[in-house]
Amino acid sequence: EIMDNKFPGKDITDSDLKDKFPLSSSINEKKIIKIDNDISFGGDVVPIISGPNGIENKDLIFKCCEVLEKNNLKLLRGQIYKPLTFPYRSKKYYEVGDEGLKILEEIKKNFDVLIVSEVMETEKLELMKDFVDVFQIGARNMQNFPLISKTAKYNKPIILKRHFGCSIRDLLGSSEYALIEKNEKIILCERGISAPHTHKSTSRFMLDIQAIPAIKEYSCLPIISDPSHACFWHEWVEPLTLASLAAGAEGLMIEFHPDPRNAAVDPLQALNFDEFTNLVKKLRLIGSSLNKKIF
Ligand code: PEP
Ligand code: MN
Repeated sequence: EIMDNKFPGKDITDSDLKDKFPLSSSINEKKIIKIDNDISFGGDVVPIISGPNGIENKDLIFKCCEVLEKNNLKLLRGQIYKPLTFPYRSKKYYEVGDEGLKILEEIKKNFDVLIVSEVMETEKLELMKDFVDVFQIGARNMQNFPLISKTAKYNKPIILKRHFGCSIRDLLGSSEYALIEKNEKIILCERGISAPHTHKSTSRFMLDIQAIPAIKEYSCLPIISDPSHACFWHEWVEPLTLASLAAGAEGLMIEFHPDPRNAAVDPLQALNFDEFTNLVKKLRLIGSSLNKKIF
């Protein structure tokens, strides 16, 4: 029986491509996921999703939106709900939560940006749907199947991040839960995996650059890279972002912040405004030699 699970593995077999994830596998035509007239994932455009780790406050996110506009970019990280590892919060360590919904609305009124925002609970989907253009399902929820199914029903694009301990086989299985709901707009994201050595005591993960060509071999879905979360160290974000583009990433997620070391969450990984702007310039240079438009 082909659908049995007698030989569960982490690697992908030919029968997996047909039976375990028939919708997300590379037996299908490669998908191009259109976000608006300029932006699509999986074709000759490589979109950049950028912004702070979290919205923090209106003033901060407005400044970030200005940086996006100056760099001719459109996709904003607009996180208001965060899967923080510990439950304690302080004035320096927090997410905005429900109050951020109002800020999302104001961003939409004032800037021509598209908002990417993480959903952690199905109860928030109704509140978020009017302001969020792309839902993100974070690494920690990669196998929260009811969350994936219910989010997919909104028929908006979804960025599905790979859990740091999950195989590509698992990731494609999760994407299948969205595709089966008839939502074809699923974008996969490599954001680092657990590894015995990460070269720095503050680095929790390691960018699995090999996952980029591997996912392109096994899946018809676009694959993007988030070097910021993978390496957790601002000095390494530029080389890993350039390497991701060269390795074939079909989108990039990059964190920046007006005062990175004082960011409310993940202060070590964000670039400052100048570092970010310089990186975008380099990406456009490399992009043009690869015939990719960075948008
Ligand atoms: C994020 O992008 O804000 C995030 C929490 O990332 P991840 O789910 O990859 O840890
Ligand atoms: Mn984070």
